[in-house]
Amino acid sequence: MGFTTFGLSDQVLQGVHASGYTVPTPIQALALRPATEGRDIVGSAQTGTGKTAAFVLPMLHRLSANNGSPERHMHPRALVLTPTRELAQQVQDAVTTYGKFLDLRTGSIYGGVGMQGQIKMLRRGVDIIIATPGRLLDHMQHKTIDLKHIQVFVLDEADRMLGMGFIDDVRKIVARVPKERQTMLFSATTSPDVTSLASQILRNPHSVDAGHHHKPVATITQSFYMTPTSSKMDLLHHVLKSEKLESVLIFSRTKRGADKISQRLERSGINSTAIHSNRTQPQRMKALEGFRQGKYRVLVATDIAARGIDVDGISHVINYDIPRDAEDYLHRIGRTGRAGASGDAITFVSGEDRDALRRIEKFTGKRCNVEAYPGFKPPERSTAPERSAAPERRAAPERAHTPSVHKHKKKSGYGNFGSHSSGKRHGGKKPFAFGKKKKPFKRMESFSSDAKSWSNN
Ligand code: AMP
Repeated sequence: MGFTTFGLSDQVLQGVHASGYTVPTPIQALALRPATEGRDIVGSAQTGTGKTAAFVLPMLHRLSANNGSPERHMHPRALVLTPTRELAQQVQDAVTTYGKFLDLRTGSIYGGVGMQGQIKMLRRGVDIIIATPGRLLDHMQHKTIDLKHIQVFVLDEADRMLGMGFIDDVRKIVARVPKERQTMLFSATTSPDVTSLASQILRNPHSVDAGHHHKPVATITQSFYMTPTSSKMDLLHHVLKSEKLESVLIFSRTKRGADKISQRLERSGINSTAIHSNRTQPQRMKALEGFRQGKYRVLVATDIAARGIDVDGISHVINYDIPRDAEDYLHRIGRTGRAGASGDAITFVSGEDRDALRRIEKFTGKRCNVEAYPGFKPPERSTAPERSAAPERRAAPERAHTPSVHKHKKKSGYGNFGSHSSGKRHGGKKPFAFGKKKKPFKRMESFSSDAKSWSNN
């Protein structure tokens, strides 16, 4: 099936064709027709599934219908809300690509850069606005934007938006958008908050669900490697040397950790850069662009900064620090294996990560086989107590507006982790049995102040 059956206008189809897409992704196949007909859409799709085109193409179709009218360019007629600046920028890029045969103007509005340029852009006239909630509210308060003519309203990554504490901002924005409109809401996961928001802002929506949203994309190979915390950097060097890792996205839990990893890799001759919320927007964009163009082999990111990263051809994602949120795990590994490409996700697991690993197993419904990395022997010092482990573990994690609260049940022992793997991918890889190493890891944990803050010990 091609794209011609959805009722999209010729110019929009030309844009799709120019992007090189021939077959719609599952979310596109499900959403494009009802969305093009003007229905409200509630879409459940994880990152990397092609959801951007699923809402951008119908939006372009609708706006192109009155292409020649004097109304065009005068007021924003479509508004896309995204949780992060990077995602806003990427949605804008998608709109520009798919809409290149249309006479429509697009602009983005987000914090971290001056308001003047955005005010100028709004004064000049624009049809589509991609915005993050905070800066959009600033413009609304300064009366530099008028949302009275919005016909299409999109909430992208709604779960992230609410998780970052934007619910009140979103409500304020919704209150200023006309009631007569088409609304599309996309979310990777469904929580009671998302469902409640959807029921308030959507009218008789058409639901589209592109598969089980807790399931990682099938083309991503996932590996979990055991390492003491203090040997993570050694393991990272080992992995970067021993595997064909061309374009690598590494996740660190903290901003300081991200800088430190990047600096240490640079010192050992691996081109790398870091992206986190302490960096200015131009710095973030420069890092992302450098990574995209292959200037940097490695990009080290925190979860918050990485939310909008859409770089094609990321061969590997490495979770240097395991995410506390199982949901973040899916978002992280979804940065590779995009649009059907294959990808590898590697997660470093230390003795204190067992609860996080269990949450991932529970969330994805799949066992995580934790193994020793072939040929890697942690240096001697790693047998010392973890107190002296990598300093970034003690730094504050990068937080969204509202830190999420986890409730963990105490679980005994490590024995339930992962079935023993056949070790077929790396030949001769030994499965790691947590249960057998119980004693030393218990000792490490009791020394780790960080572990205490989020496990039940
Ligand atoms: P998204 O989930 O919207 O961030 O899209 C993930 C990636 O898939 C992006 O790099 C898109 O350019 C790409 N993509 C979207 N739709 C298609 C398609 N039908 N065929 C091939 N690639 C696509």
